[in-house]
Amino acid sequence: AWFSDPALVRVLALLNSDGGEGRVAGGAVRNSLMGLPVADVDIATTLRPEAVVERAKAAGIKAVPTGIEHGTVTLVIDGTPFEVTTLRRDVSTNGRHADVAFGTDWQTDAERRDLTINALYAKQDGTVVDLVNGLPDIESRTVRFIGDAATRIAEDHLRILRFFRFFALYGSGRPDAEGLKACARAKASLAKLSAERVWSETKKLLGAPDPGRALLWMRQAGVLTEILPETEKWGIDAIPGLIAAEKAFGWKPDAMLRLAAMVPADRERLKTLAGRLRFSKAEAATLDHWAAAPEIAPKLAETAFDRLLYRNGPSGLTMRLKLALAAARARGLGDPEALAFSGLCQRLLTRAEKWRKPSFPLTGADVLAAGVPAGPTVGAALSAIEDEWVAGNFHEDRARLLSRLDAFVKAN
Ligand code: ATP
Ligand code: MG
Repeated sequence: AWFSDPALVRVLALLNSDGGEGRVAGGAVRNSLMGLPVADVDIATTLRPEAVVERAKAAGIKAVPTGIEHGTVTLVIDGTPFEVTTLRRDVSTNGRHADVAFGTDWQTDAERRDLTINALYAKQDGTVVDLVNGLPDIESRTVRFIGDAATRIAEDHLRILRFFRFFALYGSGRPDAEGLKACARAKASLAKLSAERVWSETKKLLGAPDPGRALLWMRQAGVLTEILPETEKWGIDAIPGLIAAEKAFGWKPDAMLRLAAMVPADRERLKTLAGRLRFSKAEAATLDHWAAAPEIAPKLAETAFDRLLYRNGPSGLTMRLKLALAAARARGLGDPEALAFSGLCQRLLTRAEKWRKPSFPLTGADVLAAGVPAGPTVGAALSAIEDEWVAGNFHEDRARLLSRLDAFVKAN
């Protein structure tokens, strides 16, 4: 269907004239052949990047040199970006990155890609060009390296993780045996990759609709402990229950929640993990809020939960609740205790979603006005009254709290 997208037709027409050629490449061809939604359309071309820019300008098309030294120009048509990349060949590789040169040979460009399902092209007329025997693998949903698996992994170790990610997304049955063996043998080379590349790829894997099978094979191949030594021995066994809960309750796939399901809620160890994999501040905070949030007790009262929300904020508690709920569901509906607990978790989740932090009605100025001299005692008095207000479930108003403050000042 995407062959008839007028914007795409325009890009291809622009490239397919005067001895140039452009074809849709990679993920877009793979997904459309598998009948899956196509996110973004990448295009490969025999034209040099400068020529792409020149042609775009002449046709009044916006061209952004997003990675011109790597051969990539982004053409924007009606707001849709198309990444147009000049055919390449590897000059040298060292496992971490490749020095590439521009080329004009489709076979060479196909063979430097990682997996057979990722190396198909589609011409402007819709013809699929298969230079690596990828079509049978599309058909059978086999994730397979192009050429010798060990060699391809030695060129770029990240391909180990890509193998499992694409298996999670598109593979069926067992992973390709040769690929799996090569990944297991080369697992130690993952340590040579930059943390950013490892985490970005791992995050995509964890964000797959169902990463469960891929994670099992990664554990089996020894790859999982290589990148996430924090993973508890049976950590990934929680994943199927989590996926089932996500489906039942309509939660979106969430890489951080899946990660939390696999590792211990230990703030120190998670700090180490976040540092090692160069998490963003927000990602590190997500894990920390989760680990800092208290465990959900089976008989937790809703008012007590409000106090936890006030102290911890909703994000960590929400993660706790989701994981507890998933685990309770997985224990089975025949278990009345698990059933009651999952009901509680659902109610608390709704409560956390609706929760707005109440604002404490007193300030330092009130404490000073009550006669406490400026200094550390002000904060101490304020938080003592705040504690009483929280313990009273936020019911007491300003007048009541001021009289509590007076009593507190007299008593201290
Ligand atoms: P997605 O839907 O995740 O974007 P994709 O197939 O487009 O899937 P990308 O990571 O965007 O994947 O890469 C685009 C294409 O570039 C791939 O389809 C593959 O052909 C090639 N490619 C990307 N990374 C590598 C790599 N490390 N080694 C070899 N080829 C790669
Ligand atoms: Mg892509």
